Amino acid sequence: MSTNFDYIVIGSGLSGLCIAHQLSQQNANVALVESLDVAGGSNKKISFPHSEVNNGLRLMPATESALKSVEFLENLLSLKIVKSIQETQPVTFEGGQIKPFLGFGENPPDFFEELQYFTSATLIDWNLEPYEWTRLLFERFKGQFFPRSIATRFQIENDKVASILVNGSKTLKAENFIFCGPLRELLLLVPEKFLNSRLRQRLAKNNFWTLVGIDFSHSSRITDLNSVHVLNGTTQDEIGPCLGRFLPSTDQAHQVSQWITFVDEAEAEDTEVIAASLKKMKRQIKRAYPEALENLQTERISVTPLYSGINEIKLQGNQTLPGIENLWIGSGQAHMQKNLIGALSQAQLVLAALGFASAAADQPELNPDLA
Ligand SMILES: Cc1cc2nc3c(=O)[nH]c(=O)nc-3n(C[C@H](O)[C@H](O)[C@H](O)COP(=O)(O)OP(=O)(O)OC[C@H]3O[C@@H](n4cnc5c(N)ncnc54)[C@H](O)[C@@H]3O)c2cc1C
Repeated sequence: MSTNFDYIVIGSGLSGLCIAHQLSQQNANVALVESLDVAGGSNKKISFPHSEVNNGLRLMPATESALKSVEFLENLLSLKIVKSIQETQPVTFEGGQIKPFLGFGENPPDFFEELQYFTSATLIDWNLEPYEWTRLLFERFKGQFFPRSIATRFQIENDKVASILVNGSKTLKAENFIFCGPLRELLLLVPEKFLNSRLRQRLAKNNFWTLVGIDFSHSSRITDLNSVHVLNGTTQDEIGPCLGRFLPSTDQAHQVSQWITFVDEAEAEDTEVIAASLKKMKRQIKRAYPEALENLQTERISVTPLYSGINEIKLQGNQTLPGIENLWIGSGQAHMQKNLIGALSQAQLVLAALGFASAAADQPELNPDLA
């Protein structure tokens, strides 16, 4: 089997899959390299006893940039993904009752910007959940998938990447490389002399947030209120509020709820800090819904380091890394918005730079048959 590809995409999260899928539709010889067993990155399906859900919250405010980024995906998949735009009012628990959430007032948490994204007054209601996006993109990908393959080093010759080292031993060659993993990894992947010192400093800085998520499968329906909840404790502490929501349920005996908070990456290595933030989330949920955490069917914790941060790295206009002409950065973290919108938008920018701007713009089907 040939190991000389037209494109090697590193990372099979949402952005890597959009890029690899589209390139492979155009008869390019594409390799998709993924460190885990399966494709999908953080957008994957989680099976609970009575339902299948996203790996944590997957909300998107119905902004212009969000709708544009989803339209790009609809064109890639030729499917209608947006069902409707929901007018919604985030809520909080205060003075013993659920009330409209009106903002953080004078004491915003340090991760205010991370939370604010989720508290929009309009949210997109999906025809197709985000875990289905990655599943379909992967199913339709026509190139070669390399699971359990960690890209460990770019080998650079004449200002171009010639090959990547995988798992420290195997070499894969290509004309073009598209990196879609966390930006911090570039410090290890790119030989030092090809990363200018300013870029290195920005990547090395500890200014990322770690996302701490907790999903519950409750043994009864807790509430019909599907609004986003912003729950704060009674005391101000450095752990701050959590945010989440109860998923709609038609069954009296089950309901899923999903919650997140953020911890400074520099402190997140300390398991006690993570444990304290989980404990606090539970306390906040229990205050608002005293029965919610009794007889839980399942409880699932996720810790996602380098979730977002203020590290802006300056790419060339064509989204390549300065000084390396065939290394494109497709990672959602390279975009201003470090979320689903950023992952889709960065993929779109890279594809446009590679000359694939008109990503399969057939009219999306109205009733996708996903069977
Ligand atoms: C719990 C949780 C809840 C979230 N909720 C929301 C939400 O409600 N709304 C929203 O907009 N966003 C949300 N997000 C963020 C959003 O899901 C991400 O920003 C987006 O999916 C990132 O996509 P990506 O493709 O850039 O990265 P990822 O999904 O992280 O994919 C990167 C992939 O690269 C692989 N990889 C990394 N390094 C290497 C390497 N060296 N070699 C090979 N493979 C490698 C990884 O294994 C991974 O599969 C949430 C994220 C989490 C974790």
